[in-house]
Amino acid sequence: MKTAIYPGSFDPVTNGHLDVIGRALKLFDKVIVSVADNPAKTALFSIAERQEMIRQSCADLPGVEVDTFAGLMVEHARANGAVAIIRGLRAISDFEFEFQMALMNRNMAPDINTVFLMPHDQYTHLNSSIIREIASFGKDVSKFVPPIVSQYLRDKFGHG
Ligand code: ADP
Repeated sequence: MKTAIYPGSFDPVTNGHLDVIGRALKLFDKVIVSVADNPAKTALFSIAERQEMIRQSCADLPGVEVDTFAGLMVEHARANGAVAIIRGLRAISDFEFEFQMALMNRNMAPDINTVFLMPHDQYTHLNSSIIREIASFGKDVSKFVPPIVSQYLRDKFGHG
């Protein structure tokens, strides 16, 4: 039974994240999608809302669990018996930060490997902050996010 952890802000979860989760499920028996509780970042959605959107978007994906963590991600990974940390790589611009983080994490937990997965080309331009911005203007983002997320965004911005 191999478990991987997929940490991130997921503010909110997008089709790009879901693509990565689908790929991770082909490699691991269990994928724990874990929402980072990072007080240094201001988020649009609460941790509970972000978890609920992931839970509903992954309802038909056996093997996915949803969690949250505060503090060191590698400790959370270890506490859950994860052998790998999943991160998505969209473009070279992601690389530098991801590389640094992977090396730091490996330093702290040499037994846990970071696995980088590339989404399908159609998702390489997608990120949560662009989605938040477009939705804040009342524009339709249903091509980019699961239906539950479109609904949450409409409710949040009062464009119901
Ligand atoms: P973080 O704040 O940790 O970067 P995100 O929710 O933005 O959290 O992203 C979590 C992970 O998912 C990161 O590894 C990020 O590179 C990856 N990711 C985000 N959007 C996409 C996408 N469209 N395709 C593939 N991976 C993505």
